[in-house]
Amino acid sequence: MSKLRFHAVKETLTRKPLKIEEKERRSSIFGNNVFNEATMRQFLTKEAYKSVMDAVQNGSKIDRGVADHISTGMKEWAISKGVTHYTHWFQPLTGATAEKHDAFFETIGGGLAIEKFGGGQLVQQEPDASSFPNGGIRNTFEARGYTAWDPTSPAFIYETTLCIPTVFVSYTGEALDYKTPLLRALQAVDHAAVAVARYFDKNVKKVNASLGWEQEYFLIDSALVASRPDITLTGRTLLGHSPAKGQQLDDHYFGTIPNRAMSFMRDLETECMLLGIPVKTRHNEVAPNQFELAPIYDEANLAVDHNSLLMDVMDKIAGRHNFKVLFHEKPFAGVNGSGKHNNWSLSTDTGINLLGPGKTPMSNLQFLTFFINSIKAVHEYEELLRASIASASNDHRLGANEAPPAIISVFIGEQLTNVLHELEGVTKGKLSPEEKTDLKLNVVGKIPEILLDNTDRNRTSPFAFTGNKFEFRAVGSTANCANPMTVLNSIMAKQLIDFKAEVDALIENKDMKKDDAIFNVLREYIKTSKNILFEGNGYGDEWQKEAKKRGLSNNKTTPEALKARMAKKNISLFEDLGVMNRVEIEARYEIEVEEYALRVQIEGRVLGDIARNHVVPTAVRYQNILIENVRGLKDIYGDDFKKYAKEQMVLIQVISGHIEAINSGVTKMTKERKIANNIQDSEKRAEAYCNKVKPFFDDIRYSCDKLELLIDDELWPLTKYREMLFTK
Ligand code: ADP
Ligand code: MG
Repeated sequence: MSKLRFHAVKETLTRKPLKIEEKERRSSIFGNNVFNEATMRQFLTKEAYKSVMDAVQNGSKIDRGVADHISTGMKEWAISKGVTHYTHWFQPLTGATAEKHDAFFETIGGGLAIEKFGGGQLVQQEPDASSFPNGGIRNTFEARGYTAWDPTSPAFIYETTLCIPTVFVSYTGEALDYKTPLLRALQAVDHAAVAVARYFDKNVKKVNASLGWEQEYFLIDSALVASRPDITLTGRTLLGHSPAKGQQLDDHYFGTIPNRAMSFMRDLETECMLLGIPVKTRHNEVAPNQFELAPIYDEANLAVDHNSLLMDVMDKIAGRHNFKVLFHEKPFAGVNGSGKHNNWSLSTDTGINLLGPGKTPMSNLQFLTFFINSIKAVHEYEELLRASIASASNDHRLGANEAPPAIISVFIGEQLTNVLHELEGVTKGKLSPEEKTDLKLNVVGKIPEILLDNTDRNRTSPFAFTGNKFEFRAVGSTANCANPMTVLNSIMAKQLIDFKAEVDALIENKDMKKDDAIFNVLREYIKTSKNILFEGNGYGDEWQKEAKKRGLSNNKTTPEALKARMAKKNISLFEDLGVMNRVEIEARYEIEVEEYALRVQIEGRVLGDIARNHVVPTAVRYQNILIENVRGLKDIYGDDFKKYAKEQMVLIQVISGHIEAINSGVTKMTKERKIANNIQDSEKRAEAYCNKVKPFFDDIRYSCDKLELLIDDELWPLTKYREMLFTK
């Protein structure tokens, strides 16, 4: 075994789980490091408290004078917990979170110092933003950017720093982050959904989108990761032969959690509790050393922040346990990949889940209204939804015969399919009293019963209804949920606005009763959006053909999928809703295609390096041993040596073949990279990386992996799959 590999495996084998003691009940520490309602009551004046709550609940502005009171209260609280610094915490388009810490500490002359944190510092900061991705916005406009406090997501303390969730925008107001468009989309869906919900209940004043994400990840020993330059630099293995035993025995899913992993999880969960992240579920996933963690769902903006924060926290806590968390969608070829299911729903301030069936026919009509509008929204904007989850790393899942396919479809289960079928047959125009009674009793009225038995779950669907919410399963494990949530809530907002207009038109112009009008519009929606419904096996080839016939998109690669962002219809959607203007949309597109090309570029470089500088020299060394052996046999057996050296000579030849394949592959790939790098247009550059550079990865890898099987294990430099996946 090579030295590095040997030491990595040895170190891993001698590790012991950290002892994690939980002295207090989790419920008693929950939110202790969050400036939540309870804490605000304690540290804020009545007026300040009311003003924050007003901002959270009604989106009202916080007066500058009141902000001074709030910041003082926050500071007092933070200092009482040993905090020394504060930071605006935001989510730039790098995919990571960003922070810049400033101390409360300030000198006031005469050798004296105080702790200070004013309203101005709470409300707005001007980070040196020139190094964040901006897609040209900041060149076109002003060079500066600023962060502004988002009071709807509470401040929290992490490692002696007070973190204030903020939006990040350019000086001219263009969004430079994930949160800004999300907040706008949430506001749009709130308004649109309230208007529709009022058909059913006049008391509804606010509708919140909820999100419950499920984070999948791998835990690999940090020494093993350090011995793999590919994981270190790209987050995934670029080569490595699959182990003799993989996940075929299905013995990992929901299996006993290994001790070290368990101790990591408990440590992590404690930290989550303090930060108010309501984590609830943990379990082994399908692949060895793969796990999942899920919280209780929350308001979408908060849930998005929690997920971003969680990924940071996981990284840090893993370090304490000598683990590295791999968030990549496909860290190991041939082994199950990771996703981040986004469970999504809408609920009213009157406590009704709009995607949950109710107890009465009327509340069920409300459910069906939101349910069918969701389906219609996905049908109209399936390509945009696909674009919202596109990334170089997620391409390894979507369209790669694993997890959901790149085709977006909606699964609703047999019973609801039947309900839609019934509704599709309702009379055009006014319904007779008999028909209405029949609908109420036999179709709409039966929904709660049938959903209780609705246990059919289709794991291959990218967008599945699961009883009281939709589960968007195609989201990648590295993704910031804000992106898909912005799109989903925007398309729903747009759909509900259209729906309201159509129903109102029928009521006014055709003199229809409200429920007649609703039935009429829903009937047409069912007809026009049927094509998006699919109950079968999403992984099968037949679905690819069928989807094509239905006119559904099947955008397998990121450059292809992202194009939808620039489609006229999709630009209008965001512009009309005020979620993003054209400049913001173009900038994001630019950033995303650019990032795609960069990621593939880095992978290409790393692969070239490993193949040429690690694998080929090892192959040559082993080949020399074989050559030496053949020479020795010749010494002993003279002309007879071939009888004894036959296999060795074949091996020598095969190794030469692979060395040649690797070298010519790397040479050609490098050439294509150079060509791609010279392309000025970033969209075309991303396409070149996708279609010209990336295809060499498989060829190069193939030969490297074959060599791994041939070469003496003692010589092989890279930690093997079996060592990374099965060392506990
Ligand atoms: P499972 O899918 O394993 O049966 P659940 O249905 O309870 O489990 O929920 C899976 C995830 O969906 C959890 O993260 C949960 O918090 C979330 N979830 C449940 N209800 C909602 C909802 N109304 N809106 C958004 N997410 C939800
Ligand atoms: Mg799930």
